[in-house]
Amino acid sequence: MNYIGFDVGGTNLKAALVNGAGVILAEEKMKIARIEDQSALAHTLVEMCRGLCAAAKIPLEQVASVGVGVPGAIDIHTGTILYSCNLPLRSVPLRKLFHRELSMPLYLENDANCAALAEYFAGAGQGSKRFITVTLGTGIGGGIVHNGKIFHGANGMAGEVGHMTIISGGTPCPCGRRGCWEQYASATALKRMTAEAIECRPDSVLARVVAENDGHVSGQSAFIAARLGDETAITVRDQYITYLAEGIMNIINIFQPDTLAIGGGVSNEEDASLLLPLRRRIEQESMPVNRDKRTRLVRAELGAKAGVIGAALLGKKKRI
Ligand SMILES: [Zn+2]
Repeated sequence: MNYIGFDVGGTNLKAALVNGAGVILAEEKMKIARIEDQSALAHTLVEMCRGLCAAAKIPLEQVASVGVGVPGAIDIHTGTILYSCNLPLRSVPLRKLFHRELSMPLYLENDANCAALAEYFAGAGQGSKRFITVTLGTGIGGGIVHNGKIFHGANGMAGEVGHMTIISGGTPCPCGRRGCWEQYASATALKRMTAEAIECRPDSVLARVVAENDGHVSGQSAFIAARLGDETAITVRDQYITYLAEGIMNIINIFQPDTLAIGGGVSNEEDASLLLPLRRRIEQESMPVNRDKRTRLVRAELGAKAGVIGAALLGKKKRI
């Protein structure tokens, strides 16, 4: 059977038709700003479903279900977008609106959970029974897949690992708390730490690396300059890894996943700079268990397509 997934991002609406193994058979993308209101969103989804089927030469009847990943809070039972972080979407009864035009099962899910499900079925989590993804981006997204099902908690909001406090009384977070992990270990945090270090050490190699990148501080800047032996960059990188490790160890101690995958742009850094130091921390700090029962730390495999693939595969297994 085939499945269609949508990833509602801040800029783009991505869509894909995938087979049962999560392999993309057709995909489409459009600017989200072109969608004017709630019913236009539902109508656009229906139109894109038809377009994807035509492109893949697959009749609509051979699509089992449609899934939509949204960055924000959703009611998975009623198929309603409660609110979205970066889009003017409030209380949108998407399933109801969609069903006015197309009677096909439609599932809604938080985008980070979609990414986790995609990795579980078709990426780094294949074969795992207790699987967690951590995505390092603007914030930190998390998704928990337990025996093939997304763990939602009582209100659908479980898995918000980015908002665990790692520094009591630390940096304020838009969620209302202080010292949240994403204020220290997201790509945004890494860029902020890099910019602060350059301000203190404008003569550093790190400052030169950024200057050569048109003055643009990226999540890679500190890693690049650290590889050149720059002390300022090494300090930033090591501090960042320390923050990252604190949160990862917290997650491991609470959930004891067999596999934890790290995604997002930062995860593309070479093993020696990222995964190896993190794995060392896991070795040193894990509860005393058999070596083969320790959490396996891996890199997520599906990149920017994880959201849309996971949204499509929402219908693959019976949900909660
Ligand atoms: Zn927070």
